Amino acid sequence: RKADIECALVVLGAGPGGYTAAFRAADLGLDVVLVERYEQLGGVCLNVGCIPSKALLHAAGVIEEAAHAADYGISFGKPKIDIDGLRGHKDRVVGQFNKGLAGMAKQRKVRVVSGSGSFASANELEVTGADGKTQLLRFAQCIIAAGSQALELPGFPWDDPRVMDSTDALELAEVPKKLLVVGGGIIGLEMATVYRALGSQITVVELADQLMPGADKDLVKPLADRLKKQGVAIHLKTKVVDAKAQKNGINCSFEGDSIPDGKLFDRVLVAVGRVPNGGRLGAEKAGVRVGERGFIDVDAQMRSNVPHIFAIGDVVGQPMLAHKATHEGKLAAEVAAGEKREWVARVIPSVAYTDPEIAWVGLTETEAKAKGIKPGVAKFPWAASARAVGIGRGEGFTKLLFDEGTKRVIGGAIVGPHAGELIAEVALAIEMGAEAADIGHTIHPHPTLSESVAMAAEIFEGTITDLY
Ligand code: FAD
Repeated sequence: RKADIECALVVLGAGPGGYTAAFRAADLGLDVVLVERYEQLGGVCLNVGCIPSKALLHAAGVIEEAAHAADYGISFGKPKIDIDGLRGHKDRVVGQFNKGLAGMAKQRKVRVVSGSGSFASANELEVTGADGKTQLLRFAQCIIAAGSQALELPGFPWDDPRVMDSTDALELAEVPKKLLVVGGGIIGLEMATVYRALGSQITVVELADQLMPGADKDLVKPLADRLKKQGVAIHLKTKVVDAKAQKNGINCSFEGDSIPDGKLFDRVLVAVGRVPNGGRLGAEKAGVRVGERGFIDVDAQMRSNVPHIFAIGDVVGQPMLAHKATHEGKLAAEVAAGEKREWVARVIPSVAYTDPEIAWVGLTETEAKAKGIKPGVAKFPWAASARAVGIGRGEGFTKLLFDEGTKRVIGGAIVGPHAGELIAEVALAIEMGAEAADIGHTIHPHPTLSESVAMAAEIFEGTITDLY
């Protein structure tokens, strides 16, 4: 069969991994086609992930800040929430960047093909458009950037709009009176933060013995304490075993250590993880090996077992984060264009944009323990930062982990407002092999929350021994 489209490089999926790869490859001179099944570019992150969730979390933060202003003598009235207005804000932010990406593709002469791609052979993709028409695309090289999708727990009445995944929750159809959040990970807790601020009564159930499994326990405590104070019911070591749609709500049954009081919820958000899309691409027809869980194995250059087919982003493994996808996208594009590179990132930061924010990078204390490493741990409590206290957030802290032998920083974690911004310094310090003295002797601006990073380093060095 004659190909309808021919190109040097096809990128399958236009999320942060895919569009970054496509643009970089085009900048390096390759003739690139970008295949995307959705109308808009940007993937999960821009359309139904990072960006809309943060736009809503900003609004939640404003509501929360206004409520707390009473602590320092300023009172506002009860917030009036125009949900259409709020949705409009979120959609405008997303739309602006959809447009930006389309412009960037055009500028680089990246051809965007709309449709769902499936491999026909190791050099061919069949792309089926919304109208059902199929085009055959022949390529010399391919980058798979097909991402992931929300895991649908079996047994839930998914055909009922009151049962939501994160995409549904971000649509903001209504503010339910009672919202059950199944899964106390980053996505579940970010959405819980939004809906609580808008007025929902929130119940969170989590199978593990702490919220946000994966983060050190001490990091999660200030968040759990604040959520509890705000009236969020948290049930650990508990799972939903049944959910039935009834006229007056979703009726849920639970099993575990901490059974919620009520069974009936106006809406249920299921946020129990994401599954990679590797198993949905006909990859076997190209000879690409896909693991049992749907991840595609790649080497340090992002090549699959078929050397001219690369894979990047959520579809290649954890952590499923946009900044990992973009770095991998750039790397795969550069290798495809003939550059000799490989993936050498030491650390990938994780951030929960909850209130307080929680951010960590490098080794955690739990990981260190599991590996039999005994790091030096220095913790600077924000109660000793006049700036943190001035904004009413003395419950935060900054923690650094050091190699006791070399004094190099090997991990770090921050809890408190702007933790996601502050953690970048720790990531840089780890990448550059900084020692405690390098950080402690770098003059940080006063009074800032960023000083807490230097303070933690000085505590480790022993050059600060007492705090105010
Ligand atoms: P995706 O963004 O998943 O993009 C894949 C694209 O491929 C999609 O557009 C899809 O339609 C397309 N596609 C798939 N199969 C085909 C096919 N067969 N044919 C054509 N097109 C196809 N990460 C962060 O770093 N920070 C955050 O704050 C953050 N917040 C999040 C909040 C939520 C609610 C969610 C759900 C995720 C969040 N993430 C966040 C994760 C982040 O969105 C992902 O890690 C990131 O989008 C992965 O990028 P990707 O390019 O690998 O894939």
